[in-house]
Amino acid sequence: MEKFGLGTILMLHHGKVIRLTDVEYCPSVACHLISTGQLIGRGYSLSTTASGTKLFAPSGDLYLWSDPIASVGPLHYVCVLLQCIDEKVQVISSKKDEYLLWHRRMGHPSKNAVKHLHSVTRNLKAVAIPTDLTPCSGCAAGKMAEKPFVASTSHATKPLELVHSDLCEFPTLSYYHCRYVATFVDDFSAFACVYPLAAKSNTFRVFQEFKAWAETSLGAQLLRLHLDRGGEFRTNEFSAFMRQSGIEQQFSSPDTPQQNGRAERFNRTMVEKEEAMWHSACLPPNLWQFALETSVHVYNGQPFRRSKWKTPVELWKGKAPDVSYF
Ligand SMILES: [Zn+2]
Repeated sequence: MEKFGLGTILMLHHGKVIRLTDVEYCPSVACHLISTGQLIGRGYSLSTTASGTKLFAPSGDLYLWSDPIASVGPLHYVCVLLQCIDEKVQVISSKKDEYLLWHRRMGHPSKNAVKHLHSVTRNLKAVAIPTDLTPCSGCAAGKMAEKPFVASTSHATKPLELVHSDLCEFPTLSYYHCRYVATFVDDFSAFACVYPLAAKSNTFRVFQEFKAWAETSLGAQLLRLHLDRGGEFRTNEFSAFMRQSGIEQQFSSPDTPQQNGRAERFNRTMVEKEEAMWHSACLPPNLWQFALETSVHVYNGQPFRRSKWKTPVELWKGKAPDVSYF
């Protein structure tokens, strides 16, 4: 049995995240095996009956339990929702490993995005694309199918000429007690910023923050703000601020469907990426905020076909990003 590397596996087992270290990566083995002998050697103890096996941690707490594969027989299986191999495996030995590593690091983008990555970023060697790719479990969990190509509907000619905004609600309260995310997507560059919020009423404050940061960063003024739905922006306070700042407000119109939903579509993509990421890493649902912020960070550094394979960072500030530290 050939061993290609050593790493860590995270398993979601009956709502509990279990970390197994020193796991051997053996691509030729078709299933995942846990050695009870190894665990006993680390101080764990076993209790096996006809109905299953319970494994106890050295502290005496129940660690994991398994059920018999058949009504009779010594083989038991452990029910886990998902698993992942830590990317810090000691040996990267094949094209497929390298491709999967960058596919995960970049938040599960398409094969073509990984292919173009080195030519539009700094300090990165070309990543070979294997021909015999197996489906990624994170992509399947996040429902990330290869999307049909959508031609750019951008009308802006420079950053901050037009920004799209939307508010997205999450089903779970985040680790930092946020429920909503305000999104700002620049029309010209597709560069995006997200702001997790505890309450919808904070939308105006984060818009002011985004405006101040973006205008100072680029030395340019925000000219138009396009709102997909806009309920949170239709306040007297917000309208007065927009008039004082000289920013034109646009709301999605049923007559111009091609303008609708740019920020909403972006939110949907980010939620899929965020789900692919935390499923793949076996994280509890309340850590979605970290996965989302990471997704947006890597999204800004990845090439898109509709931008002629340029990255949002390059179109936003005129310099190719360095993603080699990912
Ligand atoms: Zn994937």
